[in-house]
Amino acid sequence: MIDRSPVIAPQPQVGSDHELTLTLPDGSERQVPAGTLPRDVVASIGAGLLRAAVAVQVDGEVQDLVTPLRRGGEFRVLTEKDAASLAVLRHSAAHMLATAVRRLRPRAKIGFGPAIEDGFYYDFEVEQPFTPEDLSAFEDEMRKVAQEKYSFVREEVNRADAERRFADDPLKLERLAELGDDEVISVYTDGPFVDLCRGPHVPDTSRVKHIKLMHTAAAYWRGDEHRQQLERIYGTAWFSKDELDAYLHRLEEAKRRDHRTLGKELDLFSVDQRVGPGLILWHPRGAIVRNEIETFERELILRHGYDLVYTPHITSEKLFEISGHLVNFRENMFGAMEVEGAAYRPKPMNCPGHICIYQAHQRSYRDLPLRFAEFGTVYRYERSGVLHGMLRVRGFTQDDAHVFCTPEQVDTEIERLLDLVDEMLRAFGYPYTVELSTRPDNALGAPEVWTDAEQTLARVLERRGQAYTIDAGGGAFYGPKLDFKLIDAIGRKWQGPTVQLDFNLPERFGLEYIGADNTPHRPVMLHRVLVGSMERFVGGLIEHYAGAFPLWLAPEQLRVIPITDEVRDAAAAVAARAKEAGLRVSLDDRAQTLNYRIAEAERLKTPYMAIVGKREAAAGTVALREHRLGREQKPHVMPVEELVRRLAEEVKTRALTASGTDQPAAGGD
Ligand SMILES: [Zn+2]
Ligand SMILES: [Zn+2]
Repeated sequence: MIDRSPVIAPQPQVGSDHELTLTLPDGSERQVPAGTLPRDVVASIGAGLLRAAVAVQVDGEVQDLVTPLRRGGEFRVLTEKDAASLAVLRHSAAHMLATAVRRLRPRAKIGFGPAIEDGFYYDFEVEQPFTPEDLSAFEDEMRKVAQEKYSFVREEVNRADAERRFADDPLKLERLAELGDDEVISVYTDGPFVDLCRGPHVPDTSRVKHIKLMHTAAAYWRGDEHRQQLERIYGTAWFSKDELDAYLHRLEEAKRRDHRTLGKELDLFSVDQRVGPGLILWHPRGAIVRNEIETFERELILRHGYDLVYTPHITSEKLFEISGHLVNFRENMFGAMEVEGAAYRPKPMNCPGHICIYQAHQRSYRDLPLRFAEFGTVYRYERSGVLHGMLRVRGFTQDDAHVFCTPEQVDTEIERLLDLVDEMLRAFGYPYTVELSTRPDNALGAPEVWTDAEQTLARVLERRGQAYTIDAGGGAFYGPKLDFKLIDAIGRKWQGPTVQLDFNLPERFGLEYIGADNTPHRPVMLHRVLVGSMERFVGGLIEHYAGAFPLWLAPEQLRVIPITDEVRDAAAAVAARAKEAGLRVSLDDRAQTLNYRIAEAERLKTPYMAIVGKREAAAGTVALREHRLGREQKPHVMPVEELVRRLAEEVKTRALTASGTDQPAAGGD
């Protein structure tokens, strides 16, 4: 559980005059008076368990050992082995950070300190921003706080008492003022520090040993840019040193793989302020990667029964009035431009255009399903502060498609889409997870239609043995969807394909087909993307492969390097032969040393280097070096024809194993 608003949430006041029933994991039951501390329940189970306990879970909710029990239900003791304990640890670490900051900067005002994914933060109002030296001093102080082993002491107090305690902390007073009269106000104290908080926390500060403060960032109080700016300190905390080290290593790996750095080093793409922020310029080497993906995908979807279409980049604003985008998506749309008195806009989505193609003819049930696909470039306004390399941009190309089908065909179409997604993601070596998002509160359309659609999605997933999770209420207002998350080489999740059912646009545009009964019916519409945004996908691939693309995607597949000028012609003949076989090859016959030229090919992560010396020239062979094997390899001598055959085969099969793995241990880059 990620504790996003740990400060205070409603806690119903319950009198302590009744009994609660707790069901333990072994099925046995315990009756305890309401108000009993979980600590006492755990102690009665075993002293060893109490020592190991981090918190408890009661009826699905995590609470600490010192929060009085207010309801019964399933009762589970959480130890360091439970994933839910991590958020408790991290939030406790946030308190300890505030403890340390207050000791060293007594005038710092405190804000919120929640656990977040992989760590925690705490916001402070201070006169001077914190420096890296401050952070290391705070971290040392946190270790002292841990050694001093303060219990996290909980008190439930009345409003006046709380106001008195936080008289010097205006941000806390503000939060306090928002609490309803029927809510429990709790404060927690660890040693010298007291915080307004609902918990949960670990039993004492000695449990928080493996910590690191990462960096600071400016943050507005409660995310409101009209309010005061605070200094946010980010940190991480783990139950073991090994886990902390592994996490820090993962971060370093992520940095080594940063697509913005690699994009520059490998000459793949750039952003030019004269063009505008968030608009990507694809350099020749990056364009090769994109073109290979598009070519592969185009072949794939044609095989899966799609028709290719093209629609304009700007369209009359009227189209987006009909689609509803002008109302619902306005702040993400680029502004209107006037042409002959009519307003036009860059398209934020391709769907309306595809719908117009559907409506260009009267459609019969015999025409369905229709599957229109387009590599459609769309433009969406994003605040400049959130733009990030290729991952968050203002213009991007979606591999977008819309399927129009009869209600009876939905099942088969979903099945086909899952095949397509699987084939696509497998080609890049991505394992993936699936999430089914269901009906939200503001849903459009009859609940039965939703239930039916959700069941169809679930049924198809189950039939295939595909594991999935459910995001209850997470669907868009116009239909349920499937979200695929890619898992990259270092275990991070990326947004992947989505399959979205849409009950809205067919209504708004009045879509129809003539059924077997000769009367008009409304088709079902599916939106789907496989890579989503080509920009984000390629940015992700750069990080996934750490810049060392598998051969079929590599901008340059082979570099031929003659050792001396005497064998230049023989080397040129090797390059010509490889080119004839369809490989992307270059000849580096510059007057630099062999080592220099090899180092440069390595720097560009060129998968193969064919070295030609006198012996090779005479024998019609090359000495082959592979980027993935690193500097210390012994080149493999082989006939030119074998080289060409081997590389062509690797490209054709889109193999991931030969050069598609970048092993830092051997590669040393
Ligand atoms: Zn707390
Ligand atoms: Zn769409």
